[in-house]
Amino acid sequence: MDAVVLDQFPFQIDFGHLQQRLRIKEGSEHIGELKDLVAQAETVGRPKALYKMVFVEDKGDDYVVAGSVIFTSRVLRVNLASSYRIFAYLATCGTELEVWAASLEDLLHQYWANVMMEMALRSAFSALRDHLVDRWNLARTATMSPGSLDDWPLPQQRPLFTLLGNTETSVGVRLTDSYLMLPIKSVSGIRFPTEESFESCQLCPRPVCPGRRAPYDATLYERKYRLG
Ligand code: SF4
Repeated sequence: MDAVVLDQFPFQIDFGHLQQRLRIKEGSEHIGELKDLVAQAETVGRPKALYKMVFVEDKGDDYVVAGSVIFTSRVLRVNLASSYRIFAYLATCGTELEVWAASLEDLLHQYWANVMMEMALRSAFSALRDHLVDRWNLARTATMSPGSLDDWPLPQQRPLFTLLGNTETSVGVRLTDSYLMLPIKSVSGIRFPTEESFESCQLCPRPVCPGRRAPYDATLYERKYRLG
């Protein structure tokens, strides 16, 4: 199938949540200017998502071929043991918000805009997740992203973007030579149906991470992923 673009979902900032994130109390002198910026962001912002469903065509000890593209990762290969299709995806805050944020001169406003861009990215990711569940009847799924584990390093963004096609034209996201995405508030990865829950954080020993979604399991790799 061709890649599908999702860009027709509403983008509204939860003002109370934003206030909490920015630690701005009710009655603060900043409330008025924050409301102005939120109104601007909601007018300008066009978060977007893109995905492509492809079938798994081949598997080796530490690689998977899907959509004629080779992904090299032992963890991905084991996680896809009983999957016959995957959903390569990309979600972004959108270039519109990025350009708007870059036009702000006040440093505090730039920080606020940065948080709003994260919220836009989250709304794109949620819209994508909901769409996949509705359109493809997905039950339990898990995701993996290039760069989240040594086993599947950042350069694996290249085959992922090869699979997704011309993302700069479709959703305005560019992959740099160092495999970073621009706009920076973008996420990419593979979502796959699975019987068992999985989070990359289970295999990641990083001691302090504000984004941790599951505890580190020091023996999981040995138990489940080590080649016999
Ligand atoms: S713990 Fe943090 S760095 Fe490690 S995989 Fe989870 S989110 Fe990524």
